[in-house]
Amino acid sequence: MGKSKEKRLCKQVKHDVLEEDLDGYKKLVVNPTHLCVKCGRVCNDPGLLCEPEPID
Ligand SMILES: [Zn+2]
Repeated sequence: MGKSKEKRLCKQVKHDVLEEDLDGYKKLVVNPTHLCVKCGRVCNDPGLLCEPEPID
């Protein structure tokens, strides 16, 4: 269960995170506060996005 701070949500998704840790991913995207303007992904932790933009 290693946690890497280098892993961003945008990149995690590309690495089969949905298959490996779907529940963990759900926790990151529920009630999202930020949107990645680069990838279009949403997350409640802006640190995991490459180009986070607050969602009003
Ligand atoms: Zn991104």
